[in-house]
Amino acid sequence: MNYEEFSAEKCQSLLHIQEQFKEKINLDSYKNWFYDGESELLRLYNSDEDEIYFRYVPIGTFSLKLRTWMWSWFNTSSIEKSKSQLLAIKEFGVQNNYEKLKEGTFPADEFDGWELSAICLHLLNGIGVYKVNSGELEKYMLLMQIENRDSPEVIKFKKQTIECGKHGYSRPAFVCQHLDLETPKGFEEAFDTEKGMELGEEDDFQAWCSDCEKIRLQHDGWNEESEKHTGITLICENCYFELKDFNLTR
Ligand SMILES: [Zn+2]
Ligand SMILES: [Zn+2]
Repeated sequence: MNYEEFSAEKCQSLLHIQEQFKEKINLDSYKNWFYDGESELLRLYNSDEDEIYFRYVPIGTFSLKLRTWMWSWFNTSSIEKSKSQLLAIKEFGVQNNYEKLKEGTFPADEFDGWELSAICLHLLNGIGVYKVNSGELEKYMLLMQIENRDSPEVIKFKKQTIECGKHGYSRPAFVCQHLDLETPKGFEEAFDTEKGMELGEEDDFQAWCSDCEKIRLQHDGWNEESEKHTGITLICENCYFELKDFNLTR
């Protein structure tokens, strides 16, 4: 079977499965979504009571700007451990010489996302597919199972996170009151950070501007006096890394 025949068959099958899946869990009734790459959980919700959790495997992303597809196994900024499952898709692509399954990234269109998701659903035994849009990226997720709301994973997920108006639930981070997305002010950190990195029990994402750094040095570190100027503010991890990108001047 060539790739066109194979993918057309899987798309037909996805249409059928996805329709039943949507109906069964009333998928379209949920207005909001949030996913956490670390716990690999997707939460769909309308309120704290009206919610559902899924365990997911990241399939890949379609860039609306670059018009390219990128498999999650190829994507270094994708932190989900389960993305290694996608290597089976790549392997299958190598065996059958299906280009789109072999290449990490390539020029694509909107349709490719669904087509490739359909193939993953079939080969990895998912229960459905979900797509989220964040900015210029469409992220496709293969839903593996419904996660019980009382499961230890969900409880942990809720405990570790704060709710951000812009990003939904993410891990907490702390910055000085001066950092914003208007004027770059420098970005000094307690330690080198990377989005999605694992944190020790004692560690928090913490950053402050160049002015705060001057004051900190004058006081030989943080104390009551130097912290007065800082005005520590709680934000979410995603906001933190937006600030880092914008304020860090190399
Ligand atoms: Zn500051
Ligand atoms: Zn945020």
